[in-house]
Amino acid sequence: MRIENDPKLDFRDVLIRPKRSTLGSRSEVDVHRTLRFAHTGKDWTGFPLIAANMDVVGTMAMARALLRHGAMVALHKHYGPDELIAFFREPGSANAFYSLGTTQADHDKLARVHAQSPIARICLDVANGYTEKFVDTVKATRAEYPDAAIMAGNVVTGDMTEALILAGADIVKVGIGPGSVCTTRKMTGVGYPQLSAIIECADAAHGLKGLVCGDGGVTVPGDLAKGYGAGADFMMLGGMLAGHDECEGDIRYEERGGEQVPVAMTFYGMSSDTAMKRYSGGVATYRASEGKTVEVPYRGPVEGTMQELMGGVRSAMTYIGAVRLKEMPKRTTFIMVGSQLNTVFG
Ligand code: 5GP
Repeated sequence: MRIENDPKLDFRDVLIRPKRSTLGSRSEVDVHRTLRFAHTGKDWTGFPLIAANMDVVGTMAMARALLRHGAMVALHKHYGPDELIAFFREPGSANAFYSLGTTQADHDKLARVHAQSPIARICLDVANGYTEKFVDTVKATRAEYPDAAIMAGNVVTGDMTEALILAGADIVKVGIGPGSVCTTRKMTGVGYPQLSAIIECADAAHGLKGLVCGDGGVTVPGDLAKGYGAGADFMMLGGMLAGHDECEGDIRYEERGGEQVPVAMTFYGMSSDTAMKRYSGGVATYRASEGKTVEVPYRGPVEGTMQELMGGVRSAMTYIGAVRLKEMPKRTTFIMVGSQLNTVFG
């Protein structure tokens, strides 16, 4: 047994120190980035936010809505092949990742969809990206889809980030245990504070011209700014995008003034009892559920939330004098804090 002593930080452990700048207002900053995928050599330009490939938020409707802002969606794994073929023929799919795991059935479905309607972005997603089998899957996928941008994960350390990039990933997805409906840390004791995971994985990835996507743990728009400041090229959000019209979840209505109005929506982890019952007939006996099921307030169209998220990032950039999102890491100084938010009014 060994103990590492250097501090590892979460979003809530830090704030970003303001810096002098000549920027006048938020409208002078640009939250878009152009990023190059190392293995395909292709460029992508947009607002580097990705809706998580979770049942509720990784939807086709979300992809269409986020396209307006140049943001992306990793579709959940449960659409049928015909729906996917039709969707990937739409112009509205330009910002979508096709998500899959490592099973033969996952592989066959992707091959079938790709044959009918070529897939430009693939998200290879497993809870634990540390297995040899996963590295082999990334290699095989790279060989089979040389023109597709591949995002692969999840991992939280520089060594494994490098291994996945060398195996063929363009983007490494970073995060074990920070998610809003994740119980991995509680059930297994395994995890890594998310801000440090992003800093360390980004450093490893950028040395190889790879990219990272910080996945999970964003609870307020400020966390998104901290993620970009830490070096994340993309940030993935689940819970912050739940509860909207573009989601696929059960809506709870309440009677108000004689009318039924939507008040809440279901949101659940992809390895929660809810998800496992829905797709594989219950929790397998060899594994425990590592996700929660919760209700989130109904929030209407995702447009309002996107404005808030982008506005938060713009404002953060103004405070530190970053004209372009790309400049954020070099303009960011994190200060460690004992408390972050004033919670007197909740
Ligand atoms: P959030 O933005 O809600 O904090 O985090 C979203 C991320 O949580 C997802 O992209 C995924 O990586 C992770 N996640 C989703 N469902 C589960 C689950 O059931 N268990 C665990 N351990 N992580 C989950």
